[in-house]
Amino acid sequence: MCAAETSRAYLEVEHLVKWFGNDRAVDDISFGIPEGSFLTLLGPSGCGKTTTLMSIAGLHSIDSGRIRVGDTVFTSPKEGLFLPPEKRDIGMVFQSYAIWPHMTVAQNVAYPLEIRNVEKSEIDDRVAEVLKLVGLTDWADSLATNLSGGQQQRASVARAIVSNPRLLLFDEPLSNLDLKLREIMRVELKRIQSEVGITAIYVTHDQSEALVMSDEIIVMSKGKIEQRGGPVEIYSQPVNEYVSNFIGVANLLKGKVIDASDGHGNVEVTQNGHAITVPCRIGPGISAGDEAVLSVRPENVHAEREGSANANVEGEVTHAIFLGSYVDCRVQWGDFEWKVIAHPRTRLRAGEKVYLHFDPQHTLAVQP
Ligand code: ATP
Repeated sequence: MCAAETSRAYLEVEHLVKWFGNDRAVDDISFGIPEGSFLTLLGPSGCGKTTTLMSIAGLHSIDSGRIRVGDTVFTSPKEGLFLPPEKRDIGMVFQSYAIWPHMTVAQNVAYPLEIRNVEKSEIDDRVAEVLKLVGLTDWADSLATNLSGGQQQRASVARAIVSNPRLLLFDEPLSNLDLKLREIMRVELKRIQSEVGITAIYVTHDQSEALVMSDEIIVMSKGKIEQRGGPVEIYSQPVNEYVSNFIGVANLLKGKVIDASDGHGNVEVTQNGHAITVPCRIGPGISAGDEAVLSVRPENVHAEREGSANANVEGEVTHAIFLGSYVDCRVQWGDFEWKVIAHPRTRLRAGEKVYLHFDPQHTLAVQP
């Protein structure tokens, strides 16, 4: 028995490589996830997330690597194994709803069971059950084309899960919906997945979808994994400039690590000839003397109108927009403009001098 079978992962992707001509679309990526978890592959267009998903579905052959789900090896070119997609027992939900317009909602949802020759009474029970789960019971007998976009996507989720597949794969399923509906549907999809307890892989370039829905996120770039972790970890402890920039908003400044021990240290940053030393957390793989990028989220910059011993930077407010629960500010410091989320009580105004302080616990030195 190989190592993959003895590990606890339910889905295991090992050293997956996929070429398209001269383009290495997926470049030796490995990950495993436990049964019932929700993993998101997140990254910009062209980073290889869809190719990874399609490789798991069997809609692409792969050049090398191995994919296993449970005790079944889906594909392993080295062992000469390739399970055709229809034998992988996977449910898929795409951006286009792929709902048949000439059928009712119930007929659409029943289809995967009909082609498996499941008994009629069992089909009726199961269809009623999943339509209830996705909130479409009252629409069972309507033509699928009479549904709204959000409802059609619910119907395609019902169809994808009706046969209790081993895995549920989502490829940007909410991209066709307007913002308000996307916000509702991402919570709904997560609820449905966790109620069913199905293992899900979700592909998106939308970081807020990834943060809201996922147990774990894999951030990809150029066919490789940049970082894997839970939403809080990815947001609050990005390992490099790419992840800091891709997830949320961050102030990013190049600097040099002066000292580092036990994950803490100091980074020197120079602006217009003025060097400041900022105490911070030092990310993995970074040592004293290294070039690094200082990463500070706007909500972790404390803006004060009076100077104090704590202040790291003295700058000028260039804009301050009051938004009720916070003030969205920009603070000019040499050539660099800090993004700052200030407390409304600070009452900052454009043109004022301001002092910025960075809490060392929430200031990170990350890899460039
Ligand atoms: P998107 O969100 O735009 O789909 P993605 O991150 O999912 O982006 P992939 O679709 O996996 O990225 O594409 C990865 C790379 O592989 C890209 O350079 C893309 O042009 C290339 N690619 C993907 N599918 C094919 C294909 N069928 N034939 C040729 N090249 C492809």
